Amino acid sequence: MSATDFEVIVIGSGAAGLSAALSAVEQGCREVLVVESEGVVGGSSRLAGGVIMGSGSRLQRAAGIDDPPGAMFREYMALNAWDVAVGPVERWAARSGETIDWLVEHGVKFFDRLIYSGEERVPRGHCVDGGGQALINALHSSCRRQGVQVALGRRVERLLIEDGTVRGVVSGGESLTAAAVVVATGGFGANPQLLAEHYPSAWIPGWTWYIGADGARGDALKFAAEVGAQTTGKDRGLRTLDPGLAKLNEAFLPGWTVLLDADGRRFCDETAPYGLLDTLVRARGDRAYVVFDDAALRPPADKAEKYRDAYKQVWPNHAPFKPKNYTADMIDEAVKNGKVHAADDIAALAEKLGLPAEHLCGEIDRYNSLVEAGVDSDFGKAGKFLVPISTPPFYAVDVRPVTVNHTGYGLRIDEYGRVIGRNGRVIEGLYAAGECTGGIAGVTYMGSGSSLASACGFGRIAGEDAGRRARKAA
Ligand SMILES: Cc1cc2nc3c(=O)[nH]c(=O)nc-3n(C[C@H](O)[C@H](O)[C@H](O)COP(=O)(O)OP(=O)(O)OC[C@H]3O[C@@H](n4cnc5c(N)ncnc54)[C@H](O)[C@@H]3O)c2cc1C
Repeated sequence: MSATDFEVIVIGSGAAGLSAALSAVEQGCREVLVVESEGVVGGSSRLAGGVIMGSGSRLQRAAGIDDPPGAMFREYMALNAWDVAVGPVERWAARSGETIDWLVEHGVKFFDRLIYSGEERVPRGHCVDGGGQALINALHSSCRRQGVQVALGRRVERLLIEDGTVRGVVSGGESLTAAAVVVATGGFGANPQLLAEHYPSAWIPGWTWYIGADGARGDALKFAAEVGAQTTGKDRGLRTLDPGLAKLNEAFLPGWTVLLDADGRRFCDETAPYGLLDTLVRARGDRAYVVFDDAALRPPADKAEKYRDAYKQVWPNHAPFKPKNYTADMIDEAVKNGKVHAADDIAALAEKLGLPAEHLCGEIDRYNSLVEAGVDSDFGKAGKFLVPISTPPFYAVDVRPVTVNHTGYGLRIDEYGRVIGRNGRVIEGLYAAGECTGGIAGVTYMGSGSSLASACGFGRIAGEDAGRRARKAA
């Protein structure tokens, strides 16, 4: 045992923190502590759907999917117009498949069938049997088997810093020293002030809400200020579209909806992955309307089949997606309280929305003609989702990108997960991984599974280097 209390201290017990702790152990560390502010292990990770993106995994090969390690890198970069931290992303992407294999070795069970995480060349979404909770259970069990100590209900108040080097943490007024500290405190979705400041496009008072865990208070940003770390990734993350009816987490739009911009113009395939919808809505000033007709809410018996499977996404670890906000009960109630507009013809609906009737009528006519032809030659929505907007009453609801799923602003790291200071130099002894980092999430959320891939992947990368540093110091 070295002169410190621990070799490595990890702050936060989500997927990033537990992966970092296990990786430090794999470097030979025996004194590893995970400090968790809440009374339960797992943070937002345990609430997650449990899709993890990766290229070059054994599971992909077993499923006959040809996807060399690192293939994900170029697609990630292209989607984000190369506006991310290239070195760290390249290393992470190159190891993304191997990280899935590593999770399997630590007892995480995946379904054999992979899904398309987003618009990618081959399926890269690895689905955990049991979702995020099962992922956390497996990593936590592995930590316990390996002797990692997990202290619950212990919020880290600050880092211990000596001559610019991080020497440990302070929690409950107690100083705990270590050769390396990994910050894995998650995002700041649960902190309205930080959302307003660092994720302004997601912030509309009274509308914005966060689907994750209470511990996502953004403590990493406070640590960054104290230690002089760089932060990056302003206004990035994942926002999904919310009609503001109730706090129901509904990431995808039903295929029978039509999504229009503030001018009443259609602009995309409504069944597109949520990351793409987020970017497309952002490009249109973050205003949009969802339009549908009464047949979608109360399908006539002879057409029920057409409305049954309204989602492109079919996940093996998830019951078939069903509308939550867009149901007859919710919409009838919302029409009564004025949150949803209803009208017996499209021109009257346009008037209620304050749109030129020509725009809305023209756009819906055009959509119906594509439906009639069976091909969405405008935006490529699959034929099975094309149903006409023709049965009154017609409905329209204002949607905003305010359901916060993930925040992408945080500590700047290098390709070893080391935190970079304002002076451009690595801050000795300090690492970060997962949602508390910045520069990894790009302008477009790549697809289901990219945050957990980042948490587990960078958790491993940071934990390894932190472990090596601690072993050298011992
Ligand atoms: C409902 C939901 C579904 C999702 N589904 C998916 C999905 O299927 N695939 C995907 O890729 N992503 C998904 N995401 C996003 C993904 O889950 C998160 O981005 C990821 O889990 C973050 O992992 P993390 O380890 O960085 O943070 P977290 O899992 O949030 O862990 C951080 C931990 O740090 C603790 N902490 C914070 N501050 C302190 C402090 N000062 N001292 C001690 N402890 C502290 C917190 O309490 C928390 O336990 C989903 C998110 C949500 C909310």
